[in-house]
Amino acid sequence: MSHAADTYRHRGQRRALVEELRRKGIRDERVLAAIGEVPRHRFFERGFESHAYQDKAFPIGEGQTISQPYTVAFQTELLRLSPGQRVLEVGTGSGYQCAVLLAVGAEVFSIEYNAVLFERTRRRLHELQLGGAHLFCGDGSVGLPAHAPYDGILVTAAAPALPRPLLRQLRVGGRLVVPVGNEQVQRMVRVTRESAEGFAQEELGDFRFVPLLGAAGWAS
Ligand code: SAM
Repeated sequence: MSHAADTYRHRGQRRALVEELRRKGIRDERVLAAIGEVPRHRFFERGFESHAYQDKAFPIGEGQTISQPYTVAFQTELLRLSPGQRVLEVGTGSGYQCAVLLAVGAEVFSIEYNAVLFERTRRRLHELQLGGAHLFCGDGSVGLPAHAPYDGILVTAAAPALPRPLLRQLRVGGRLVVPVGNEQVQRMVRVTRESAEGFAQEELGDFRFVPLLGAAGWAS
């Protein structure tokens, strides 16, 4: 069986994963449909695909991980994106979250700090014909001001504090979703830009991410 195949078995495993995420509290049907659509096994290195439909994070090399499907669904749901809205993802990693954002109809800008992962993932998304995402290699802790403002900004690595440069790149009405805390545990924070200078902050549960590096992250 080729690595590239998306078989009846894979589709069945995705349906079971969607039901598991529903039981765990994910409600947004567009997010659940995206999880049901994106072939997560294609984001794993050859030989490790059998782990793809467990609700677990998994190593992707370079000391990084593909996030747990529940976390991907939870963060995507918190963004409350409508089709066509612009989203910046900080931490492209394997490209899986990026593919889920594309599947909910967003225009995706995604930036990855690690050049090896960036190159590997750029090729993978191209092979999967997900070339619609705008991919960048660099320090996303300071955002991507050239393409701002965004309706949503999603950070997929743990920040030591709210990354201030990202707040300024939100459109009024836009949402920033970012895990903030120490290296052991982080609170999921959603900040909504209510006006030019007004921001509302909510804290939504504990998670564990790899560290956000760069100027507004942890020291590299
Ligand atoms: N969203 C990814 C996926 O679907 O596979 C999971 C990402 S992994 C949990 C976090 C990623 O953030 C890693 O690939 C890491 O290299 C990247 N990262 C860390 N600091 C960064 C920064 N300042 N800018 C951009 N990416 C960063």
